[in-house]
Amino acid sequence: MSHSRIHNFGAGPAVLPLSVVEEVQAALPNLHESGFGLCEISHRSPTFQAVVDSAMARIRRVLSVPDDYTILFLQGGASLQFYMSALNLLSPGETADFLVTGGWSQKALKEAKRIGGSEAQWDDSGGGFRSVPKDGDYTIRKNATYMHYTSNNTLMGTQFHHLPDSGGKPRVLDASSDIAGVTLDVSAHDLIYAGAQKNLGPSGVTLVILSPWALARAQANSDLGEIPTMLDYSVHTSKGSLFNTPNTFGIFVLDCVFKWLEENGGLEGSIARNRAKSDLLYSELDRTNFWVPHANNDARSVMNVTWRCADEAMESVFLTESATAGLGGLKGHRSVGGIRASMYNGCPIESVEALVEFMQGFEARHS
Ligand SMILES: *Cc1c(COP(=O)(O)O)cnc(C)c1O
Repeated sequence: MSHSRIHNFGAGPAVLPLSVVEEVQAALPNLHESGFGLCEISHRSPTFQAVVDSAMARIRRVLSVPDDYTILFLQGGASLQFYMSALNLLSPGETADFLVTGGWSQKALKEAKRIGGSEAQWDDSGGGFRSVPKDGDYTIRKNATYMHYTSNNTLMGTQFHHLPDSGGKPRVLDASSDIAGVTLDVSAHDLIYAGAQKNLGPSGVTLVILSPWALARAQANSDLGEIPTMLDYSVHTSKGSLFNTPNTFGIFVLDCVFKWLEENGGLEGSIARNRAKSDLLYSELDRTNFWVPHANNDARSVMNVTWRCADEAMESVFLTESATAGLGGLKGHRSVGGIRASMYNGCPIESVEALVEFMQGFEARHS
């Protein structure tokens, strides 16, 4: 197998640890000595049930998920959760409050509005989404059923560095782009969802974590008979996440990624690695006015770092030259422009070192 892999800064699907990729490669023809290939085995087989159990146990350990919380592996991406969360958690006449800190939370609110009249209590779209709110910058309504927020804003490169105040209401969190990479108090949330393809594995599987409150809400709304079966958390929960055929491949990769996390210092190790990577890149951005970081200092993301060139005409040159130098996936999202380096859990620090070295050479050549 050729290992001439590039330094991959893509926003997702994103780079995985090479050891995980090789473990998956080995399982393709024969999963765990069962004789069945990874993509060719029944989701009802004991061999695959062991994979599900292992993945759930590892997630519980690494993320300190309380015993009475439910873990699900669903499909449809985080985007389906925008709607599914509201559908399951809101009873008729109820609404939720949203902190709109980027393109994904805008989309989450749009879908939740299909269920009830949910509202943004903070929306920084006018300011170009360079920041996240502090407690006190917004008020959660007394009659809101829950507060939804996005911990890391993938497109803009901003991130909450505190647990946002929810006025005593349950917290619902889209953690797609920083799960298992930053401090996370699962017990302070009632629903957490994350598409796997940034920090945890491939696309096509979504990790969903439900509190007893969230499950009870889903059950109550299910009992009203209004929730389509496939969108019903209580159905998926009652079947141990195997109501229908899940993404078996994706769940296996998730198990490998969480095993890799456990072998490499657990959540603390992951946090330390991500901090080291982002410190390295931000110190380069702060070293010279050649670069113009997008996010306000106190809201900088450790996962997605976004910046412009002071001379914006240099950006396309940067992208061309960096690609030639073996640095891939650096084009910024169209809503921000410029350059974005996504450095999720699977991104090794060597890639960030190579990027910073390239940036210093680029500045020297072009200024
Ligand atoms: C990527 C992303 C999504 C969309 O995920 P899909 O799995 O493609 O639906 C949603 N929210 C956040 C924060 C993301 O980074």
